[in-house]
Amino acid sequence: MKTRSFAAQTATSPLGQFSFERREPGAEDVQIDILHCGICHSDIHTARNEWHNTIFPVVPGHEIVGRVSAVGKGVKGFEPGDLAAVGCMVDSCRECSSCAEGLEQYCEGSMVLTYNSPDRHTGGMTYGGYSERIVVAERFALRVPGNLDPAATAPLLCAGITLYSPLRHWKVGKGNKVGIVGLGGLGHMGVKLAHAMGAHVVLFTTSASKVEDGRRLGADEVVISRDADAMKKHTRSFDLIINSVSVPHDLDAYVTLLRRDGTLCLLGAPSEPHPSPAIFNLILARRRIAGSVIGGIRETQEMLDFCSAHEIESDIERIPIQKVNEAYERMLRSDVKYRFVIDMASLRA
Ligand code: NAP
Ligand code: ZN
Ligand code: ZN
Repeated sequence: MKTRSFAAQTATSPLGQFSFERREPGAEDVQIDILHCGICHSDIHTARNEWHNTIFPVVPGHEIVGRVSAVGKGVKGFEPGDLAAVGCMVDSCRECSSCAEGLEQYCEGSMVLTYNSPDRHTGGMTYGGYSERIVVAERFALRVPGNLDPAATAPLLCAGITLYSPLRHWKVGKGNKVGIVGLGGLGHMGVKLAHAMGAHVVLFTTSASKVEDGRRLGADEVVISRDADAMKKHTRSFDLIINSVSVPHDLDAYVTLLRRDGTLCLLGAPSEPHPSPAIFNLILARRRIAGSVIGGIRETQEMLDFCSAHEIESDIERIPIQKVNEAYERMLRSDVKYRFVIDMASLRA
């Protein structure tokens, strides 16, 4: 099927129109006409080849919500007309121990990302959600809760699950003090989710203009991270700090704020390394620096159902696809409240 999209042709060219072939749905596949696609900072890293692994042309987009338009013979859970969602993965080896535990994001075989991954069906690369439609195995499609706005649900498929998974892994709940670093797409979901889980939430931001929003979104306290005195007041007090900043920065400023056995969990994926944290800062309080990547399919559905029960959506700014390059520039200036979502009807217009 000929499918219209927006793609980057090189690391330095703006995204523009591009057409490619999607496969016809096989027996286990769901075909989804895309309505909304969020813009993740990973889309920018990839379109600009900042991780040095992009095969061009690349069609980014992994926060996808749409309507099912066809299903294969073996599909049981979806029918045409249903809302459905796709996140960062469209397949995995399905056999390794991580896949067996429902942790496909840590697949030790070959996980297939929604874009810029070798495509088992076409022999080319996978193309993502800045496109008219996607065809995906049913087991990698998610059900969209009926009480949430579909456009404001799209960012949950990456930003939402990427924060939900570490919050669950570190068993965040009432009585925990949790820090969220950076109020962007990931960070604003972290504030909402940690608040809904009952934690005492402290937002760290570099943007003084985001203090009020931080509180409105669910932070109990907001700290301007450039203010050393304000930072110092939180020394040795956090169980968990989740850091989604997209550029290298001083991690010691946050390690110092962890209590004994506390964890700094890194989510941001800058292309250059962070300066190394001081060893004594870690060993003298058995502190940990950890990382986490998205979440498995089962947990992603659990997150969507949690958001449904707590009426949690992303705060979004809807844009036509023709504004995608401008949106990238604004994200690089931390000027997004708090996720751009592309209205895919603009591609069909
Ligand atoms: P985003 O919306 O652009 O937000 C990034 C935030 O980082 C900004 O809003 C800003 O928050 C802060 N920031 C930006 N420049 C900064 C600077 N120079 N110094 C300090 N803080 C700065 O990006 P996103 O979509 O949330 O993604 C964030 C990172 O996570 C990216 O690297 C992305 O690739 C990565 N990511 C990882 C996963 C995973 O599974 N681990 C999943 C998705 C994305 P303030 O204005 O509040 O300071
Ligand atoms: Zn993402
Ligand atoms: Zn696997």
